[in-house]
Amino acid sequence: MRAVVYEGPEDIRLEEVPEPVLTDPEDAIVRVTTTSICGSDLHIVHGLLPKMEPGRIVGHEFTGVVSQVGSAVTRFKRGDRVLGPAAVWCGRCHACKKGLVSACERGATFGHGPLLGDLQGAQADYVRVPFSDFTLQPVTAPDEQIIFAGDILPTGYSAVVGLTPGGRGVRTGDNVVVFGLGPVGLCAVASARLFGPAKIIAVDNQTQRLTTARDLGADVTVDAAIEDVREVIREFTDGWGADYVVEAVGKEETLRNAVSVAAAGGVVSVVGAFQQPTILNAPRMMAKNLTLAMGMGDLGRMRELVGVIEAGNLDLTPLVTHRMSLDDAIRAYEIFDKRLESAIKILLTTS
Ligand code: ZN
Ligand code: ZN
Repeated sequence: MRAVVYEGPEDIRLEEVPEPVLTDPEDAIVRVTTTSICGSDLHIVHGLLPKMEPGRIVGHEFTGVVSQVGSAVTRFKRGDRVLGPAAVWCGRCHACKKGLVSACERGATFGHGPLLGDLQGAQADYVRVPFSDFTLQPVTAPDEQIIFAGDILPTGYSAVVGLTPGGRGVRTGDNVVVFGLGPVGLCAVASARLFGPAKIIAVDNQTQRLTTARDLGADVTVDAAIEDVREVIREFTDGWGADYVVEAVGKEETLRNAVSVAAAGGVVSVVGAFQQPTILNAPRMMAKNLTLAMGMGDLGRMRELVGVIEAGNLDLTPLVTHRMSLDDAIRAYEIFDKRLESAIKILLTTS
């Protein structure tokens, strides 16, 4: 079968490799129909993921059709259309029972090498999926509507519902600000719309991303390259500030801005991927009674999110800027990495 294989930093190739086989009774083998390229795939290509080894298939966003199931699988059979998760979880350890599947003691992320469970990736014709009764979701909507519900949507959605089980999420009448309109930030914008906010203000420094944010439900967009972000937010919130702020960049400067624009009693919810320790303005946060939430998206919400999409309440297709064949995967990586052609999300189809 075809697969996108990591052979070393700056060296990925489309190769012919053996098809995966069932190795556990809870496994399923999925014939991938659509897969997409994520920002974290670029980290891997650039050699930034520790312990990544040559010969590993990359990719962790996929939809497909079940082709084989292990003897313990009860929810799926050959031929079922499914959405895959970015990472798997066992469904029965302490973390899973607490609703924190991202902390599962047997968890593993597709296509991230030995550091994260050494699970082969999904940018391929077939992929092996562990714990498939828990981790796969049956779907009926088209691939391009559903594929993001396995990774970036759970992250963007988790960002607006508080990031921890029972956390404070966006409420009716809140003024919401989203910093960073990459795919996750854009999913946060679209998700915030579901909770009846007064206003959604979206901030980025790229014009096309601001346009897409408006398509997904932002009321106000702020171009950080040319506008005074704090001033614009103050103006659009009648001087009060933002009740709920999402940080989807992962940089000290945006976290500082997020704290600065948050209203008293507000929430700062951080899903940006910080690469190093960062200084917080603790006195300011205390003075404003801010709640700080940080964390990974909750893949345990996949089932709920598939339901929201299939009910017609959330349409993420404005994120899709490119549809290409898996055969053109290496070119697709180049387009995505260099942000050519205003790329936001590139889908790769196997047919
Ligand atoms: Zn991803
Ligand atoms: Zn678990």
